[in-house]
Amino acid sequence: MNVHLINPSSVSFGTAVITPRWQYVLAAATPKSFGDPILVDETLFQMDPKQIQPGDAVGIGIHTANALRGYEIGKLARERGAYVIFGGIHATLYPQEAIDLGGAHAVVKGDGDIAWAKALEDCRAGTPKPVYVGGQIEASDFVAARWDLVPRDRYMWASVQTVRGCPKHCSFCSVWRTDGQRPRQRTSDVVLEEIVQLRRLGFRFVALADDNFYPVTQTDIKLATAQKNTARLSELNAIRDERFELMSRLAQLPDDMVFFTQITMEAAEDTEFLDAMKAAHIKGALVGVESVTPAGLKDVYKDFNLAGEALIERLRTFRRHGVHVLGSFIFGLPSDRPETFDATVAAAQSAEVTFAQFVTLSPYPGTVDFIRWEKGLGANPPTIALYWDHPVMSAEEIRSRTQAVWDNFYSFSSIWKRSNFIKSKRGRLAFVLISKIYRQMYADTGIATDSARVSRSRKWVRWLAIPCRHLFAGRPMPGLQVPGMPVPVPALAAGAGD
Ligand code: SF4
Repeated sequence: MNVHLINPSSVSFGTAVITPRWQYVLAAATPKSFGDPILVDETLFQMDPKQIQPGDAVGIGIHTANALRGYEIGKLARERGAYVIFGGIHATLYPQEAIDLGGAHAVVKGDGDIAWAKALEDCRAGTPKPVYVGGQIEASDFVAARWDLVPRDRYMWASVQTVRGCPKHCSFCSVWRTDGQRPRQRTSDVVLEEIVQLRRLGFRFVALADDNFYPVTQTDIKLATAQKNTARLSELNAIRDERFELMSRLAQLPDDMVFFTQITMEAAEDTEFLDAMKAAHIKGALVGVESVTPAGLKDVYKDFNLAGEALIERLRTFRRHGVHVLGSFIFGLPSDRPETFDATVAAAQSAEVTFAQFVTLSPYPGTVDFIRWEKGLGANPPTIALYWDHPVMSAEEIRSRTQAVWDNFYSFSSIWKRSNFIKSKRGRLAFVLISKIYRQMYADTGIATDSARVSRSRKWVRWLAIPCRHLFAGRPMPGLQVPGMPVPVPALAAGAGD
């Protein structure tokens, strides 16, 4: 009985930006008696149905955007006589959908680190249950990924998680509902062990795939202090101390390492934290700006963000402290108007964000927005199709204006201007290349409806991705040791280090 782990995608580039972490975690969570799982990431290559034999177990991880392709694979695998197990955010929220549309024998809801093995054992016994409740396990039970299975040359970035869960409750986001609002932090030992394993293999770039790298804000601490809530205060301080401990150990890794993470804008009020990030080689962070207007922030329950000049100043603070920002903006909020698009791109430029992404609001399942949208549809809402009625703009107008913003922000002259923080010509050219590939991957293939443009764009990505991959690769460092851990005696004898 072979175990397959398939990451569905309708588009394959032969190269991908980030490793799909869940595959390597579930590979580690697969009991040894099943042998090594067969991993298929369709963002690289499409799956080959012939590989699936009767009696095999096929695990498919889905979020809303790749659910339809996941369901095609599920039905296909079931027709070939395999056991089909779904997991991931979308299956957690809609287990019955995976059973009805994706041919699932079983669905793992929530964290798969422990529940996956149970589902596999039951498949081997021929008695899979329809649902396994993985729930929200403690950080000490998170499984470390099996990076020995990664095709090193296919990915630009590896991915390691340090904390799961986010205390916020943004209306468009399902993270706080699926991963919970309590930050579950892994110890620095296990995080460092994974990162060192990746650097030994030659990965210099690692995404810290956290829901929110800054789970305790200054406001939280002030509030607990004002309320004289000593228990809460010591809990918050403990989480914060662990963050600093992790960053101080990341700082001891080789200087060529680069980390990237996701963080809320509030981190800019905490310059001690930003300085620790810089020292820890965390060179960039995705910051959810969402909207540049107070009304837009209210629309998404993100009142803790700032707007106008204060927003620009806050984003510049990241840059001043050595952390580049990938600003994430949402268009199509109820309060957006045609002039919002130009105002947003102007704010992004003036705030000196290094990269930006512009997405259109979709009421994703599991979010507060979705519940609002679904209520408005009456008794029989459609199962999958997603759309969002805007008070003054058509969907087409929002889409084409969003595309124009991407074109403007990523025009050659804008990118070249943004690259002026890099001294060498070669470095600036690399920045242009990376900006262009980012834009091609996430704009044209994501929001364009013109199929000729999409197919041209995919060709470009395939072509650009090859030199780009080399820019990210590092020389393997097989002797690298985990900072702050005793060096094993055989390594000392062999002369550890690179
Ligand atoms: S968008 Fe970010 S800050 Fe808001 S709930 Fe989701 S993970 Fe947390």
